Amino acid sequence: MKRLLITVDGPSGAGKTTVSRLLAQRLGYRYIDTGALYRGVALAASRKKWAADDDSKLADICSKLTFEFRESPNGQRLYMNGIDITEQIRTPEISMLASDISARRCVRQFLLKVQKKMAKDGAVVVEGRDIGTVVFPNADMKFYLDADHDTRVLRRYKELAARMGRTHIRLDEVAKAVTERDERDSSRSLAPLKPARDAIRIDSTLMEIEEVVDLMHRYIAGIVK
Ligand code: C5P
Repeated sequence: MKRLLITVDGPSGAGKTTVSRLLAQRLGYRYIDTGALYRGVALAASRKKWAADDDSKLADICSKLTFEFRESPNGQRLYMNGIDITEQIRTPEISMLASDISARRCVRQFLLKVQKKMAKDGAVVVEGRDIGTVVFPNADMKFYLDADHDTRVLRRYKELAARMGRTHIRLDEVAKAVTERDERDSSRSLAPLKPARDAIRIDSTLMEIEEVVDLMHRYIAGIVK
C-alpha cells in the first residue's frame, strides 16, 4: 500500500494536534508536530539569552540543534540534543517566542531541512502552518483545519488550564495571545499561515474530534470526493 504523506495546517486551537495524532494512529502512520520544533528552537533561544534582532546568533543556535520524536507509553515525546523537552515547550511564553522566531528566515530554512528529513519515507501525518504550502507542496493529501475564534480560544484555555491549573490562566489573556499569534502567523512574509490551494478545508467549530478524524479518514480512503 502507498505510504502517504498527509498534511494538516491551520491556526492555533483548531484541533490540529489531537486530530493529527488520532488520524496517524488510525492509519498506522507516524505523526510529526512541527510546531513543537519551532517551540524547541524558541526554548533554545531563550536559554541562550538571544536578543530579538540577532539573527546570526539565532542561526548559530539552530546549527547546534538536533531533534527527535520518540514514542512513549504516555504519548509522543520531543528530544532536543538528546534531552526530553516535551513539557518545557508548552508554556505561554514559549508559544509567543515560537511565533516570533518562526518569522526568521534562518529558523525556517533550518527547520525545513529537519522536517523534510523526518518525513522522507512517507506514511506520516505532518501538522503545522505551512506544511501543505511550503514544506510539502506535493503531499498526497492536504487538510486545512479551522474553527471560529471563540471556539479556538476556549480550546486553548482548557488545554492550558489542564496543564497549569485554572488559577494560573486567564481567559482574556489566552484570547489576546491567540489573536496576536494568529495575526503574526498569517501576516508574516515568509511561509504565512494560509490554506494550500488544493487543501480540503474543514471547519471543526461544531464537530467532535472523532467526527473530524472520520471525515479525514473518508477523504483519504477516497470515499468522499
Ligand atoms: O502549533 P504550535 O502552536 O505548537 O506552533 C507554535 C508556533 O510555531 C506557531 O504559532 C507558529 O508561529 C510556528 N509554526 C510555524 N510553522 C509551522 C508550525 C508552527 O511557523 N509549520
